[in-house]
Amino acid sequence: MNKNGIILGVVIALLVAGSVFAYQQLFAGPQSVHEHMCMYDDCGWKGRVTMVKGPYPPKCPDCGRQSVLTPSTCKQCGHQQLLNEEIRNFSGFEGTPSYTKCHECGGRIVHGD
Ligand SMILES: [Zn+2]
Ligand SMILES: [Zn+2]
Repeated sequence: MNKNGIILGVVIALLVAGSVFAYQQLFAGPQSVHEHMCMYDDCGWKGRVTMVKGPYPPKCPDCGRQSVLTPSTCKQCGHQQLLNEEIRNFSGFEGTPSYTKCHECGGRIVHGD
């Protein structure tokens, strides 16, 4: 194989690797889909936003406040919910307990779940 052949081979290998990666991204199971949520209960927006550079958290498409956070998943039942510690950090709700209790099963949800 000459030099051009080797380069062509590398390019093809990269293209194949790239399309496998893209395929996995497109057809990944529902467990890898992370919805975002508005942290305000009176809004209750859920959906997906494109995270762009700028102030964090991003603006809620529904109520317009800077309140879109990524929920964590309960290990026990799979329910997705925002962590109280994040809500406290960004909203200044002082009455929010730091302990996050799952709304579905009552178990504790911790960061990184
Ligand atoms: Zn909202
Ligand atoms: Zn749960």
